[in-house]
Amino acid sequence: MNTATTTATAGCRRILITGGAGFIGSHLCERLLNEGHDVICLDNYFTGSKNNILHLLHNKHFELVRHDITTPYLAEVDEIYNLACPASPVHYQYNPIKTIKTSVMGAINMLGLAKRTKAKILQASTSEVYGDPVIHPQPEYYWGNVNCNGVRSCYDEGKRCAETLFMDYHRQNKVRIKIIRIFNTYGPHMHPNDGRVVSNFIVQALSGKDLTIYGDGCQTRSFQYVDDLVEGMVRMMATPDSFTGPVNIGNPCEFTMLELAELVIKLTKSKSKIIHLPLPADDPKQRRPDIALAKEKLNGWQPLIPLEEGLKRTIDYFRHSFFTK
Ligand code: NAD
Ligand code: UDP
Repeated sequence: MNTATTTATAGCRRILITGGAGFIGSHLCERLLNEGHDVICLDNYFTGSKNNILHLLHNKHFELVRHDITTPYLAEVDEIYNLACPASPVHYQYNPIKTIKTSVMGAINMLGLAKRTKAKILQASTSEVYGDPVIHPQPEYYWGNVNCNGVRSCYDEGKRCAETLFMDYHRQNKVRIKIIRIFNTYGPHMHPNDGRVVSNFIVQALSGKDLTIYGDGCQTRSFQYVDDLVEGMVRMMATPDSFTGPVNIGNPCEFTMLELAELVIKLTKSKSKIIHLPLPADDPKQRRPDIALAKEKLNGWQPLIPLEEGLKRTIDYFRHSFFTK
């Protein structure tokens, strides 16, 4: 038996969250602490920040560990959420070799830990495994259209290889795995300089700078508010062992980048203008999740927060955190 199970009080599980000081990880730490679990937050602070979890440090059920998942980590745990990996193109392309090491060696180290402790392990995979998709919207059975040697490949192929490792540890070693494919997610605790479109537009609008649209702005994304994602993650972890995924977790409402820019300008009441900059290499033209499987397997889960509402909350966060004197 897993020793963590024997030491935990009934209903309280010991949960490891890698990348817990990042944007999504910090929300997940808070949610699981609120449910009464013991949470170990492990992070090397590459893109995450202690500021995201400062409000949790007083909680005696919360443990913070500085650690890089490219090296093994030992602890007795019941569940592992593997989120550690830079997620924005600017950050994952900063040191692409480190990015792929984090996805691949990190997966091997965390799967080894899950194997030894018999913990359940959830992988934060991504819609990027579909690359620049030619099937729209993207269902889980679509194998994708991915460049294996471009500038985004360190992330896309790293995440694809991590999915392979998860499935092989499951088939070969009976590790209890869960794979979710996260589509563009936004909300409070996003890094203000991480270059993702929602944070870029909000910061630009609040500081009166031009909003930078890459290309003609007709490319699409489907934006999910972070609370909807966290709900999907927790439900996925609770599914029977026979359901491994992969399952898409995202909001199927699709917007062009031009529509997003106009909405951010409206909601911030900004005088900023829109300018166009060159499109980065391998930028996917469209993206929207097919969430039928998530609805079926996760007790009717579906996103509840519309883009306008989620943007208002995110704008409030950025205004209070970075723009009030
Ligand atoms: P983030 O950059 O805010 O969080 C990633 C965290 O991982 C950071 O705290 C960072 O310091 C940490 N980290 C990076 N490399 C590490 C390493 N080697 N060892 C330990 N910690 C390390 O990004 P996020 O948006 O919160 O993304 C979390 C996860 O979700 C990532 O795996 C990402 O690929 C996945 N995901 C996110 C989105 C999205 O839209 N936000 C979409 C698809 C997938
Ligand atoms: N984008 C943009 N302006 C920005 C940042 C991004 O027009 O300041 C575009 C980017 O080219 C892409 C979309 O917005 O088409 C989403 O980019 P992001 O980096 O947020 O996520 P990803 O490309 O990984 O989906």
